[in-house]
Amino acid sequence: MSRKPETAELLIRHAYVITMDDSATIIENGAVAVSGEGRILAVGDDAEISARYAASRTIDAKGAPVHPGFVECHLHASYHLFRGVLPDQLVESDSFDTFEGHFYNTVTDEDEYLSVLLACMEMVRNGTTCFMEAGTVLTPEMAARAARQVGVRAVLGDAFIWDQPQGFSQGKNETRDEGCATCAAQARLHTVLERAPKTRAEALSVLGTQLQRNSDPDALVTGHVAVLGLGTASEELMMTAKACADAAKVTLNIHQSYSPADTEADRQRFGKDPLVHLFETGFLDRNVTFGHANHLTDAECEVLLDRGTSIAWAPAASMMWGHGSALHGRHAELWRRGASIGLGSDSPNWSNDFDLWRQSNLAVMTARDVKMDRTYLVAEDGIYMATRGGARAVGLETSIGSLEAGKRADIVIHTLDRPEMVPSTNMIRNLFYASRSKSVHTVIIDGRVILEQGRFCALDEVEIYAEVRKASAALLSRMGHTVAPNAVPRPRRGA
Ligand SMILES: [Zn+2]
Repeated sequence: MSRKPETAELLIRHAYVITMDDSATIIENGAVAVSGEGRILAVGDDAEISARYAASRTIDAKGAPVHPGFVECHLHASYHLFRGVLPDQLVESDSFDTFEGHFYNTVTDEDEYLSVLLACMEMVRNGTTCFMEAGTVLTPEMAARAARQVGVRAVLGDAFIWDQPQGFSQGKNETRDEGCATCAAQARLHTVLERAPKTRAEALSVLGTQLQRNSDPDALVTGHVAVLGLGTASEELMMTAKACADAAKVTLNIHQSYSPADTEADRQRFGKDPLVHLFETGFLDRNVTFGHANHLTDAECEVLLDRGTSIAWAPAASMMWGHGSALHGRHAELWRRGASIGLGSDSPNWSNDFDLWRQSNLAVMTARDVKMDRTYLVAEDGIYMATRGGARAVGLETSIGSLEAGKRADIVIHTLDRPEMVPSTNMIRNLFYASRSKSVHTVIIDGRVILEQGRFCALDEVEIYAEVRKASAALLSRMGHTVAPNAVPRPRRGA
């Protein structure tokens, strides 16, 4: 027997490898070798790779698709404890003052930890291996603790970087209030978040705290700069945050042009199209990622393309609250013109499930329907947005997003033993349109096998679900909120 020249920790064999490299290489009977340090050593034909590497462990994919882990670009990770609580009849302009504000003034560190733990488990089960948190976990270390426990890659931001929270204009259509020099939407937010910054000085004292995590370039949990946006940040704060992100060479992540109302509020305070103004001030840049960006003008599309700014497209969140990203969004058009587009699930009550297969499907399908053109976006576009697009939008394009030698080993292995994966005609189309996350079988993050045969290797799922249910009930009870069963009235029909 000949000795193999090199050693690997893990070998994935007999895989339909969707590499997502620059040439969109697919290896029909391929293999991936992974080092003990969690890096991809080599990707290639099964015969060649298996002859080259002796591995401590081998996983046989049995011909099933293997692809880079999906990257969630817009997520509020602490909202899982009230998933499903906001009724369909609630208008968004009431959601913060009637619920979210009270949630933030009631939630504990342990609640946040459990909520993020559940979010991480849900993402991994659906083939997502990395997420960028939107900067709304009050104690980011709780998110870090949960991410590390599940073994998922996380990019965290400081909580509530804002200096004019009263400007919060999410979904709010009131007319302009007088008496505010910088903010067109003064006094719209009534609930004060006790644990969030209240002034610019307080926001600046928090800004950049999460960047300490980046001292280890291979850390599983890293930091970025998150600014809440939607009218809550002065331009001074936005520019300071941008400088902070530039100096640390990380992504600046901010909500932008989500609803018609906040887009209009920004247009009023800037005196022109918001992105055009941000282009002129130098804020718009390659390291900026806008959450949503559902309402852009032609001029804004041009400057966004010019600067290489990313968008975290969250189709379900818009559809859930009726903001029109499917009808009016420019995402698909921008994507076809070369823009950087990733995908986001936002939060429970905004899209309710953390499954980027669903988001990518909605993105592709709605674009086709609106354009009345089957060819406008194809399955490969959706998979690219969820992998390479996401990696770029969270600032990790050199380390994740594709299966290539040297990158971190964040790998999803599917199974063909699902009715949706039969017959094996076209693997990409069967995966994208039929099985999606249902066929996720094994998930490897940073070289560690986290999920195997759909089960977590090192977590007691049933016990954690019970703990989360208990914490959720206790939280809602402390908030004085009752969720009555069968409280949904009969749908209104006619007059
Ligand atoms: Zn958001």
